[in-house]
Formats: sequence, C-alpha cells, structure tokens
Amino acid sequence: MSTRTNLSAVPLDVVAGTSKRRPAMVRPLSSVIALGLLALGIAGCQQPQQQTPKVIVGEHATTIEDLATRLGLRIEERDKTFIVLKNAANTVILFTHAEGRFFVNGKPMGNVGEIKWQGDTLLVSDFLIPQIRQYLRAAVPPSPVVPPSPVKSKALVVVDAGHGGQDPGARSVGGFHEKDINLAVALKVADLLEQRGIGVLMTRQQDRFIELEERANIANRRNADLFVSIHSDSNPDRSRQGFTVFVARAASAEAYRAANCIGQAMAATGADSHGVREADYKVLVNTSGPAVLVEIGYLSNIQDTARLRDPAWQNRLAQAVAAGILTYMR
Ligand SMILES: [Zn+2]
Repeated sequence: MSTRTNLSAVPLDVVAGTSKRRPAMVRPLSSVIALGLLALGIAGCQQPQQQTPKVIVGEHATTIEDLATRLGLRIEERDKTFIVLKNAANTVILFTHAEGRFFVNGKPMGNVGEIKWQGDTLLVSDFLIPQIRQYLRAAVPPSPVVPPSPVKSKALVVVDAGHGGQDPGARSVGGFHEKDINLAVALKVADLLEQRGIGVLMTRQQDRFIELEERANIANRRNADLFVSIHSDSNPDRSRQGFTVFVARAASAEAYRAANCIGQAMAATGADSHGVREADYKVLVNTSGPAVLVEIGYLSNIQDTARLRDPAWQNRLAQAVAAGILTYMR
C-alpha cells in the first residue's frame, strides 16, 4: 500500500448513511431508470389512493438523510427532482416534485406527499417511513459470523476503501489493482453494517481518488465512532499470506480494542493472522477518533490474490470485518 503518499485534493462526493451533504454522484444506469420513472411519476400511474403524508415542520418533518437511516438505506443518488435510496436488497426512488410518487424496487407504491425545503435541506413527513418500510424486502440473511446483538444507537462508522482513481495501490501477481479489491470488500462491509442499523459513511463508492487527509477528515467532521480503512498488502516475500490489522503508534485504547475485535473475527476465516500492529499510516494518524487499517491479504502472493478476487472470499472477509466492528460497537 502507499497510504503515506499525499496526492492532490479531490472533493468528497460519496456519502452514504446520514450525511447532510448533497453528493453530486451520478450513476448513469440508475439515472436512466430514474428518468424513465420520472415520466411515470409525473403522469401519475394508477395506484390505490393513500393518505398523502403532510410535513408539519418541527413535529413530523424529517430529513431525507434521517429517513434513509431509519429505513436502513443509503443515499445513492440525488437530483433536484428525485432521490435514489439503496441497500443490498432494495432500491427506493422518491420524486420530489409536486404530486411525486415513491417507487420501491421498480414499482410505484404511493405518494411522497408534501415536501419542504429549509435552505438546502429537504424535509418530508416521517409518516412516509412506515409507508415505504412495508414494501422493503428483507435484506440478505446475515452471516452467522455477525453477532445478533443490539448496538448503541446513532453509531457511525466510516468505511474507507484504500486508494482509488489514479492511485491504484499495490498490483497483484496477475496484474489486478489493490484499489478494486479494497472497494469490493469495503462496499460489502458497508452493506453488512447498514443491515445492522449502523450509520455508514464511505469515503468512496466508486473508483475515485480521494486525498488521504480528506479520508480522515470525513470521519473527523462527523465525529465517527470508528474509521476502518480496507487495504490489500504486498511484500517482496511472495510466500507471505494473510491479514494484518494496523493502528497508529499513538492509538487510543479504543482503537486497539476495535483492532483486536476485527483481528479475532478475521482469524476465524482461516486466513493467516499477522495480528495487530502499529504503523503511522496517514489515515490512522489524522483521524481523531478510533481508527484501524486492515490489510486483508497479500497481492504479492498467488493464493491470496486468487482468493481476494473471489467474490465468495470477499464476502467472507467482509463478514469478518463487519462482525469485528459490531463486536466493538456493542
Ligand atoms: Zn494500500
């Protein structure tokens, strides 16, 4: 990894969970779907009449961010006229024009109802939450590795997929980039945490370059309960395999506890453990709250590389990282 390298600045554009920022992220495919549905939304396809939720500011008004969090969804995309919310099992599209509808998994299910803008903040009625919830599919059954335990409310974890964009990170023996493997596993970790009601903020959800300071700042600005950076390792000794969990040399007891929880859960995957180690990686040093960096395997090793590219193994690693985080958050 090259986490100590400091490259040029890129604005934060990827926000999941409860952020109040308005990301400008555009996913072409969902945009096309949304535009198609927009026409449908305006035309007002035939639906059983439901009571239109009313916004009463200060009483039943809620922000889109709050609505998304309470439904276990993340804001995937937003535009002046529609908002796409997602989790592993559901896509919800809200149209925010007058008489706008909401769609759950491609079907129009009801009216968004009254909306209000307070500055840049869009408010909707919290009556909309149960109306949407009734149509949501159950998320993917959780892995038995993930402990079924209550976690403290309002928990926020920043999941950082190492490298991205012009910074590919380590290159595998077969020519694969670390940045892609990190992102695949980080997205899975984020989904698993969201399924467990944890607020998740990702530093990137695409192949984008994000400056190291900015990654830490994302956690600092939101006073995150934990920052977890996902990386893949490389070593001149090509026989070296397995995972390592890093904390900064001046890490807090909480950071060590998080690292130990993640390390123990990862050891249960059967991968070789190199334990919890100290290293002053920039993202660890610059994060004011507890921060850990997980090297999930060696791209310099043929067997590790084969496993890291395998979605089933990525799931297993993600389940272990998520399980460790959930144990820590308890
Ligand atoms: Zn790296």
